[in-house]
Amino acid sequence: MTFRVPVQEQRFVLDHVVRIDELSNESEIVDAVLEGAAAFAEGEVEPLNRVGDTVGAKWSPAQVSMPPGFHQAYQGFVQGGWSTIAAPEDAGGQGLPLALGAAVMEDLNAANLAFALCPMLSMGAIEALEAHGSPEQKRDYLSRIVSGEWPATMNLTEPQAGSDVGALKTRAEPNGNGSWRLTGTKIYITYGEHDLAENIIHLVLARTPDAPVGTRGISLFLVPKVLPDGSRNDVRCASIEHKLGIHASPTCVMTYGDAGGATGWLIGPEHGGMRAMFTMMNNARLNVGLQGVGIAERATQRAIDYALGRVQSARTGAESREAVAIHEHPDVRRMLLRMRALTGGARALAYYAFGQVDRARAGDAEASKRADLLTPLVKAWGTDVGCEVASLGVQVHGGMGYVEETGAAQHYRDARIAPIYEGTNGIQAADFVGRKLGLDGGLAFDGLIADIRAECEAPSIEALADAVEIAAATLRVAGHDDRLAGSYPFMTMCAVLTAGWLMERQARAATGNTPFEQAKRAAANYFHSVIVPEALGLAAGAEAGAELLYAVPAEALA
Ligand SMILES: Cc1cc2nc3c(=O)[nH]c(=O)nc-3n(C[C@H](O)[C@H](O)[C@H](O)COP(=O)(O)OP(=O)(O)OC[C@H]3O[C@@H](n4cnc5c(N)ncnc54)[C@H](O)[C@@H]3O)c2cc1C
Repeated sequence: MTFRVPVQEQRFVLDHVVRIDELSNESEIVDAVLEGAAAFAEGEVEPLNRVGDTVGAKWSPAQVSMPPGFHQAYQGFVQGGWSTIAAPEDAGGQGLPLALGAAVMEDLNAANLAFALCPMLSMGAIEALEAHGSPEQKRDYLSRIVSGEWPATMNLTEPQAGSDVGALKTRAEPNGNGSWRLTGTKIYITYGEHDLAENIIHLVLARTPDAPVGTRGISLFLVPKVLPDGSRNDVRCASIEHKLGIHASPTCVMTYGDAGGATGWLIGPEHGGMRAMFTMMNNARLNVGLQGVGIAERATQRAIDYALGRVQSARTGAESREAVAIHEHPDVRRMLLRMRALTGGARALAYYAFGQVDRARAGDAEASKRADLLTPLVKAWGTDVGCEVASLGVQVHGGMGYVEETGAAQHYRDARIAPIYEGTNGIQAADFVGRKLGLDGGLAFDGLIADIRAECEAPSIEALADAVEIAAATLRVAGHDDRLAGSYPFMTMCAVLTAGWLMERQARAATGNTPFEQAKRAAANYFHSVIVPEALGLAAGAEAGAELLYAVPAEALA
């Protein structure tokens, strides 16, 4: 099945959801980037998806080797300037809107999620260095990370410190010359080691001597694999994980300081690590939401293609007893439309949020708050959509979906990581009700609902906005446990409401009768008629409180 980047759809969302003309007056460049990125993703990156899955990254004591073709594709990525699209111009980037960069990342995610992870991690590092790095760090490292020549990694997780980042133990001692000596072990580090580039720039969270406990005592360090004098730093990959999906993305155990200490330099102030890391994570969280969109798009295309060709059973109630292609059966049509509608909703939500970050960069304080508010929704709901749609994709294929030949199974396996990393979706839900609901005294949240109400006419959206406001009022005065118990369903309600708003905006703009515009209206109609009412049902869970959950000890559930 030939993968096609949905360029027309991307341009439509950029025009009508992001309103990219307010961010860039170079419409031809937007088209050129969309078309060029699509050609690169389809021609160079997608053909490696299968070999990446079957061969995977390989560890040896000396190195981690990438599957055949990955090196060439990565060089193509660097030489094509694809990593520079939305990076700042003073760091060698093209300074184009992040919302446009999001479309490029969606293409790579859809084409080959494991490949796309390498540039994705660099993007977060670029944001962190741009905001918190010293002039020397920017001079020596930033432009080479921007160009893609030296990819970057993000090192938070340790065996005892997963969701609880504050529990990390990696230590940094001053060398007395401005540099630091790091010792410790990090686990699950994406692209911690590989043979795609000469150098890898690790951004590492560590604890300095006498640092306060918890997240307040964490500092961020820049630790290059190859030091400025050309020698190899004291950091190595001890092993890589065997995992459900994204086999070509090396997930590394990294040991720092086996031979005395890895040399690193502070990024930002001592104990300012969480602030710098949040800069990196916010970007990465939006990008992980986009992974859900990319996988969902790919799985949808594959399912539609299969459903058009697979012939099985006559249509119930039809005069003809001849077997028909399965898309004729209402239940298969339900799956296909659901996949299209969810994918479109998740894309609109993600692009909109990136557009808010663009506006924030241009100095719009309200947009900055809205981007903060929406980040957990994009990450969590986008990745949940990725999993649901990939699962439906398997279902549409029947038995052929469960065996590996068609590729539907790989999307399902690959999609499953995204709700876990970059802060699990449970942590996103806690962030949403714990911090974002009260952001700016609650005005950020209230402003979003007001904007939705002002623009939307679909009765189901109005009903969901009512339910969201009632649940928000309950959660705002609830105790910690009750609020957290309702956090996930509440977060999903808010994501569906926001996506429903943006689907309506698109349906209103799709006035013509081209097949594209008809499909847009059909997807929006399905979203408003079926998916939005489903979210209404989540209000029970949002407001149920914690008592139900703690009615018996967990052991009793065993
Ligand atoms: C393939 C892969 C790639 C990764 N890449 C990176 C990387 O590049 N860099 C990096 O630093 N890390 C990386 N990670 C680590 C990843 O971010 C963590 O796995 C994730 O944050 C969860 O931590 P954990 O695995 O320790 O799970 P735990 O924290 O043990 O969580 C287990 C469960 O408990 C829930 N839970 C835990 N605490 C709470 C709480 N306070 N409230 C509600 N629920 C809670 C979680 O939601 C989850 O459902 C990667 C992991 C994988 C598998």
